[in-house]
Amino acid sequence: MVSRVVFGRGSFDQLDEILAAKRKGRNAPFIFYVDEVFKGNHWLTSRITLSYKDKILYIPTKEEPKTSQIDKYVEDIILEFSELPSGIIGIGGGIVMDIAKAVSLMLTNKGESKDYQGWDLIKYPAVYHVGIPTISGTGAEVSRTTILTGPERKLGINSDYTPFDQVILDPELTKDVPKNQWFYTGMDCFVHCVESLTGTYLNAFSQSYGEKAFQLCKEVFLGNDLSKEESQDKLMMASWHGGMSIAYSQVGVAHALSYGLSYLLGVKHGIGNCIVFNHLEDYYPEGVALFKEMKQEHQIQLPQGICQDLSDEQFNIMIDVALSLDPLWENAIGKNWKTIITRSKLLDLYKKM
Ligand code: NAD
Ligand code: ZN
Repeated sequence: MVSRVVFGRGSFDQLDEILAAKRKGRNAPFIFYVDEVFKGNHWLTSRITLSYKDKILYIPTKEEPKTSQIDKYVEDIILEFSELPSGIIGIGGGIVMDIAKAVSLMLTNKGESKDYQGWDLIKYPAVYHVGIPTISGTGAEVSRTTILTGPERKLGINSDYTPFDQVILDPELTKDVPKNQWFYTGMDCFVHCVESLTGTYLNAFSQSYGEKAFQLCKEVFLGNDLSKEESQDKLMMASWHGGMSIAYSQVGVAHALSYGLSYLLGVKHGIGNCIVFNHLEDYYPEGVALFKEMKQEHQIQLPQGICQDLSDEQFNIMIDVALSLDPLWENAIGKNWKTIITRSKLLDLYKKM
């Protein structure tokens, strides 16, 4: 679990004070990975104080993180500085937070990040790392994984050393998120709840967080009496609880299929989940009905026909990626999932998208 967290509008201003206690010396900088969307945004960047060799790097977020990108960032740090950083701070959405987590792990674990994709392969504690979400939904701020696309697969580095040492939850940072992106990333949280709450891996721990997040999502996306501020606050806490819920269970069908879309077509996580979930009424009837209500309420038009020109070979690649995620299917369907989920069922689903 994340060991320290502060919450509140304006809590971002505590960053300096929090970091000061963690500085290891003049030659051990803090590295700030900041979503490129904030470049030139004085309101945010003027609140980051740089001392000694500290550095801000603006991260493009058109594409999701790759293992090669992580290895490059790590190499850059090792070449530029004589000591390991005092800390790595990720300020942004799931992409930037995952990059901060992965870089902090790979600074202390030898070799290439692709070799650590999987479960509990990390051997040594990471460099101190801090997560500051600026958009709510993925739960990346709280999870024990950092999801990377490698040469062979899209898979997380799941380990006890992955979670942030410190998280700052300041809902005000989400105030300028564009509406569609707000919906897509928010729906990632909603889908986490549905997949966790209906899964065979469910236990009281996951259920308690999942139910809370589910209820908060309904308030945010279907309630009409919330102020903007309340809605931002609640969605940030929904994301947190949704992430906690899957920490002790798993995601399911939507994520498995969405990983296929992402691997082959580069479709991003939030929108990919929405595109897939829209067709999953056979698996999650109530969740999908609610999802459609929310989509309608906010007049969201999802892209259609994204798979229409694909070849058999391309469909097979997506199906292979989806089927390789055993724990997701086992959670969604049960231990006998291989007798129920066939390639042709997945092909039919992909063809509808
Ligand atoms: P993102 O990081 O892709 O950001 C989406 C867009 O929102 C970007 O264009 C970004 O610039 C913009 N944005 C972010 N904050 C903003 C703000 N305050 N104002 C204006 N624009 C803003 O989106 P995401 O949905 O948060 O993250 C998706 C990523 O998270 C994927 O790479 C996915 O694999 C990963 N993920 C990780 C976990 C985990 O547990 N580690 C869980 C789910 C998803
Ligand atoms: Zn997700």
